[in-house]
Amino acid sequence: MRTFTKPRIVVSKCLEFEACRYDGAKIKSNAVSQLFDNAELIPVCPEVEIGLPTPRESIRIVESNGEERLVLPSEKKDLTNQMNQFSDLFLSELSEVDGFILKGRSPSCGIFDTKVYAGIEKSPVVKKSAGLFAKKVSEHFPDSVIEDDGRLRNFSIREHFLTSVFTLSEFRDIKKSKSLEALNHFHARNKYLFLSYHPGLLKEMGKSIANHDGKKVEEIYFYYERTLLNMMKKKPKFTSHINVCQHILSFFKKELTPLEKEHFITLLDQYKDKRIPLSSITSLLKSWVLRFDQAYLFNQTYFEPYPESLVEITDSGKGRSY
Ligand code: SF4
Repeated sequence: MRTFTKPRIVVSKCLEFEACRYDGAKIKSNAVSQLFDNAELIPVCPEVEIGLPTPRESIRIVESNGEERLVLPSEKKDLTNQMNQFSDLFLSELSEVDGFILKGRSPSCGIFDTKVYAGIEKSPVVKKSAGLFAKKVSEHFPDSVIEDDGRLRNFSIREHFLTSVFTLSEFRDIKKSKSLEALNHFHARNKYLFLSYHPGLLKEMGKSIANHDGKKVEEIYFYYERTLLNMMKKKPKFTSHINVCQHILSFFKKELTPLEKEHFITLLDQYKDKRIPLSSITSLLKSWVLRFDQAYLFNQTYFEPYPESLVEITDSGKGRSY
């Protein structure tokens, strides 16, 4: 069974940690509670950190002279500078982080869907944007995986998030060793996972660790990390998963019976038609890995990119299980 490095994830504190929302509520989030045992969570409530009480009057973002300002309408108070100062300080003091789970729609934590009003009084919504804290997160950690609690109810978004943070946290551990051999092992174990994400970048990363131009280990790690972060920005396409599964199948072509191969092709077709999840295919492939004792494939992270206990979290039913 695979062992995992615990990813470091910053979480909006009102998600499962503390009843710190403006109305004194704590929000349920399966995505967060499932991570309690598997990750190092760093809870933060930016509104409480800037001195607002709980419960409190609601705050909002207002567009004023082309600028988005965070205001407390009940006191006609502008909190923008306070929030920006806190966010800059908090985020610059964070050493290593693998991802963020923020509360959607909040004027502080929302990552894209926070209402922006025309004015401080009763006024229409002019657009949607990110909350002030969330904007600073993107500025300080432009390559990080940042999600909100709502999006993480979608199976494929959650799967991509978990795959990214567990892969990046393992890389963070390996980076500490400064060993090229350790990086080579990491790359080899992740071959099929990276193939599903981006075949071109997989090749580039392979070339960088082959080190034909005699670079220093630090330079290789730097380039590898930049490319890895870039690769993990977008979830894999379902066609890439089909390609990877076909690659893996080729290891067993001689051993499998015609009926078994036919069954596999049927499953691939069902996956293409969105009738079954990818896991139905990877489970079958994994059973063949065990049956035919394929040690190289056995260690591939593609079969278990994050702890299996997290696979069982419930789904919103929206979106495809890529
Ligand atoms: S959304 Fe952010 S600022 Fe608002 S209560 Fe939750 S953690 Fe605090």
